[in-house]
Amino acid sequence: MAEPETKVSNFIRHVIDADLKADKYSSRHWSGRPGPAAQQGVGAVDTAKIRTRFPPEPNGYLHFGHAKSICLNFGLAQDYDGACHLRFDDTNPEKEEQEYVDSIIDAVHWLGFDWQQNQYLASDYFQWMYDFAERLIEAGHAYVDSQTAEELRASRGTLTEAGKNSPFRSRTPAENLDLFRRMKAGEFADGTHVLRAKIDMASGNINLRDPAIYRIRHANHHNTGDTWCIYPMYTYAHPIEDALENITHSICTLEFEDQRPFYDWLLARLAELGCVNTPLPQQIEFARLNLSYVVLSKRKLIQLVEEKHVDGWDDPRLPTLVGARRRGFTPEAFCRFNEMNGVTKSDSWIDISVLEECQREHLNETAPRRIAVLDPVRLVIDNYPEGQEEECLAPNHPQKPEWGKRPVPFSKELWIEREDFMETPSKGYFRLFPGNTVRLRYGFVVKCIGCDKDAEGNVTAVHCEYMADSKSGTPGSDSYKVKGNIHWVSAKHAYAAEVRLYDRLFAVEAPGEGGGDFIADLNPNSKLVITAQLEVALKDAAAEDRFQFERHGYFVADRFDTKPGAPVFNRAVTLKDSWSKGK
Ligand code: ATP
Ligand code: MG
Repeated sequence: MAEPETKVSNFIRHVIDADLKADKYSSRHWSGRPGPAAQQGVGAVDTAKIRTRFPPEPNGYLHFGHAKSICLNFGLAQDYDGACHLRFDDTNPEKEEQEYVDSIIDAVHWLGFDWQQNQYLASDYFQWMYDFAERLIEAGHAYVDSQTAEELRASRGTLTEAGKNSPFRSRTPAENLDLFRRMKAGEFADGTHVLRAKIDMASGNINLRDPAIYRIRHANHHNTGDTWCIYPMYTYAHPIEDALENITHSICTLEFEDQRPFYDWLLARLAELGCVNTPLPQQIEFARLNLSYVVLSKRKLIQLVEEKHVDGWDDPRLPTLVGARRRGFTPEAFCRFNEMNGVTKSDSWIDISVLEECQREHLNETAPRRIAVLDPVRLVIDNYPEGQEEECLAPNHPQKPEWGKRPVPFSKELWIEREDFMETPSKGYFRLFPGNTVRLRYGFVVKCIGCDKDAEGNVTAVHCEYMADSKSGTPGSDSYKVKGNIHWVSAKHAYAAEVRLYDRLFAVEAPGEGGGDFIADLNPNSKLVITAQLEVALKDAAAEDRFQFERHGYFVADRFDTKPGAPVFNRAVTLKDSWSKGK
C-alpha cells in the first residue's frame, strides 16, 4: 500500500480550525458536574484542545457504518490534540445488554482507538437531567402536558400547518413542578403525562413545537434499576450529555440536522440558568456511510442473526466489526477506507468493492505468502525416485526479500489444483495437458505425460516427468522456457485443513430495494466449506494470523476454531475482484 497520504481536509476540520483560531475553547473549566469533571477536578482547566465523542446505543453490534463515525471522532481527537469519549447512550430502559457493551469496547479497541479514562454511561447523568428539567419548569421553559397520545399527535400540526397549543400549556410553574415530581414519584401510569419544552407550536420546524423531553416509563433500567420511572427523551438527553462532558464538537449523521435548533435552544436555556458551562458544544452533521451489497440497519442485522441466515454476530459475512475481524479484514484498511471516502454533507453510496480493495492493498503489504491447494488432484512424477524428498525455497513475500525464504518439501507425489490440468486444453491454456511443460513454482519443470481416470471419467491423478536439472534457483534452471507456472504441495507433507470460502452475503447491490424482502436477495453461495491441502508451514499458524495463499487470495486462521497445530482458515478476500466483471 502506498504511504498514507496526509489527511484530507473536510468541512468539519474547517470548523475546528476556525474555532481553534478564534481561541474558542482555551478557557474551559470543569463545572461541578458528573462525567469527566468528577475525575479531573471541579474548577480545573480542561486541557484537551477539542472533545468529541462516539455515542453508541448498546443495543446491537457495531457495523461498518459505525467504523466511519469512530474513525472520524477518534481521528479528529488524535489530530487536534484532543480527547474522544466513548459514551454509551443508554437512556432508553430495557433494550441495553452487557453483551453489546462488551462487544462495542472490543470493536473500538480493535480499530486501534483508545479513550483512556473517558468512558461514560449516559444513564449516570439521570439525576442531572432531572434537576435541569426542574430548573426549566421553574423558568417557564417546560410544562407537564396531560393530553392523550392521540391528542398530542393531532395537535402537532403538519409540515404546512401550525400545531395547536395544548390546553395544559398555561399551567403555572408551581403546578408543573408538583406534577413533574409526582410523575417521578410513580403516581401516574405510562403515557398519562409528558414533560414538554415550551417553545413554539407554530414553528416551521416540527421539532421545535414543544417537543416532549420526559415520559413516564415504569421500566427497569440495566444501570439504574428501578430508581426511575420517568426517562428523558433522546433529544433532551443528548445535548446535556455533551455539555456535561465538555464536548466541543458533537458530530452526528444527517438525520439529526432538523434537531439542531432544539439542541441549541436547550443548551442556551440551560446556560442562562447556570446549569451548563460555556462555550456550548456544537452539533455538526455528516452523511452516513451507505455501502452496496450489505445491510447496515440494526433491525435487519438482528433478523439475519435470529433467523440463522448467518452463524451469529461474528459471522465473517456480516458487515459487523466482529464479523470483519473474524473474516481477516484489518483495522488499518478500515481507517484507510474512511480516510479515502472523506466526510461530506451529501448522501452517497460506496461500492463494497472499494472496501475490499482497501483490504486487499493492506493485506498485500502485510501478509506473508503461503501455498495452498484448494481443489486438490494428485500429481505423480513418474521419474522421481520413490521415497526421495528434498527442499525447495519459497519467498515469504515477492517484494520483500528481507522477509526471507522458507523451505517447502518436494517429493514424488504432489497435490495440484484440479483446474491446472486439462486433458484436452482449451485455446490459450498453458498449464498441464499431455505433452506440455510447466514449472512447478519454486521447484522443477515437469512435462505432462497423461492421467488416470475413474469409471466415471473423473481425473484421479496426473502423471509427469521432471527435469532433474531444472530446480528453481540452481544454475541453468532458467534455460527452461515455459509458459505455465503452477503451485503445489507435497502430498506426504501436506496439512489437510478446513477452509471456508466466504463471499458476499447478498447477491444484489441494494438488498430489499423497492420494498422487496431483503432476505430473498441473500447470495446462496456466500459460504463454501472445503478441505484444502496446505503447505506444512501453515500448520503452525496462530489464531488471526493472515496469509496470502498464492494465486487464491487472503486468508486468516480463524479466531475461535483454530487449535494449536490445527488451524482452520477463512478467506478474507480473493486476489482479484470477481464481482465487477459482469458490469
Ligand atoms: P439506531 O437505529 O439504533 O439509532 P444507529 O446505527 O444510529 O442505530 P447508534 O448506536 O445510535 O446506532 O450509533 C452510534 C453512532 O454511530 C451515532 O453517532 C451514529 O450517527 C453513527 N452511525 C451509525 N450508523 C452510521 C453510518 N452508516 N455511517 C456513519 N455513522 C453512523
Ligand atoms: Mg442512533
